[in-house]
Amino acid sequence: MDLTSTVDGLMDGLTADLARLAAIPSIAFPGYPRSEVLRAHDLLVELLREAGVGHVERIDLPDTSPVIYAEVPPPDPDAPTVLLYGHYDVQPPGDESLWLSPPFEPTPVEGGLRARGIADDKSNVIAHLGVLRAYGGRPPTGLKIVIEGQEEYGSAFDEYPPTDPGRFACDAMVIADMGNLRPGTPTLTTGLRGVAEVVVEVRTLAEARHSGGYGGAAPDALLALVRALAGLHDENGDVAVPGLRRDEWEGASYTEQEFRELATVADGMPLTGSGSLGERLWSGPAITVIGLDAPAVDGAASAVVPYARARLNLRVHPQQDPRQATDALVRHLRESRPYGIELTVAASDAGPGFEAATGGPAYRAARTALREGWGTEPQFAASGGSIPLVNGLARAVPHAEVLLFGAQDSMCNLHAPNERVLFSELRGAVIAEAAFLREYAAAFRSAGGRR
Ligand SMILES: [Zn+2]
Repeated sequence: MDLTSTVDGLMDGLTADLARLAAIPSIAFPGYPRSEVLRAHDLLVELLREAGVGHVERIDLPDTSPVIYAEVPPPDPDAPTVLLYGHYDVQPPGDESLWLSPPFEPTPVEGGLRARGIADDKSNVIAHLGVLRAYGGRPPTGLKIVIEGQEEYGSAFDEYPPTDPGRFACDAMVIADMGNLRPGTPTLTTGLRGVAEVVVEVRTLAEARHSGGYGGAAPDALLALVRALAGLHDENGDVAVPGLRRDEWEGASYTEQEFRELATVADGMPLTGSGSLGERLWSGPAITVIGLDAPAVDGAASAVVPYARARLNLRVHPQQDPRQATDALVRHLRESRPYGIELTVAASDAGPGFEAATGGPAYRAARTALREGWGTEPQFAASGGSIPLVNGLARAVPHAEVLLFGAQDSMCNLHAPNERVLFSELRGAVIAEAAFLREYAAAFRSAGGRR
């Protein structure tokens, strides 16, 4: 079978179904109609059945949109089983006045379509469907298809797989909530940074006091906080907190120009930190001040500020325990004692990062498959965001190889206005995923099956 021409013949139907799915505002956030989420669920179930999947069920968990769970049995007992993951819910559209077309009216753009969620993650869900169609519903491996409906808001499903490991048992998984470093550059995402948050607060006076009468000797809470925050980075902007892991990044990354455009950094504005972009973004720590409580500038009283606080977001090396990293940050802030003032520092929830083992047969098969999908050598990259479910799945099925790739690309405005997907990337993802099943099944068989 010539996979490429088969997929080319499927593209019109796949893009039409993608547009149908993207026209449904399946936003699983409070305040949005649940009926739309269920409508997307029902459409996908129908599409899976039409693609030849006999076993489709739903997993219902408390306060969680239904998870679609489907199985295609392996063609023979020696074939491996691959789990395919995606999600059918989307981010809210945000300020609709910033959109060039209504977010739930899929609209042609050069080489693709624009709509909320059309890349994240409906493109990848449709890629799974494309693989089923390419094989006429009989792929060369067993499949477990898991498509959740509340990824963007978060749900009980993140913690579910370890409680029901048998259901998720597989030899490899394709976590298709991902995509390429840039359009046309096939990319395997091998690392995700961990995340934690810390709130730091300082109270210096029982209440505000006239800055003329007291300023100069009365301790200024805002100044103390700012001084403590200034000690988190060195003069280059690199994180200066001891105990946070930072390694050289060995994979591919953005060019500086790509990063400037993606981050909307004006010409002449220096970037922060030193070392390669991969190291700064993916294999090193980042500390961002994401909130600050202090009097507003307009209408500020001439007074010494008695109380201030800040919320910090910490991103850590994929392999560093985020709690250990948080402890290092908390200790650094407590020990800073700006002007001798004690700070109150509290840590909140931490989410672990993820680093894929890249030496196994599924990774070798995936490299061949991605080359086939996009016609050029695949690159290794990482991603700044975390996917909590990946850790849940990895804990449930510790021996399975985890592959992260898909139809998105770094320029597709995920979670931002004017999200779009490119047909070239969707096509590449369908070919790559289908080729992966073929390559992996062959490698698995020649290695003598499950060890
Ligand atoms: Zn997503």
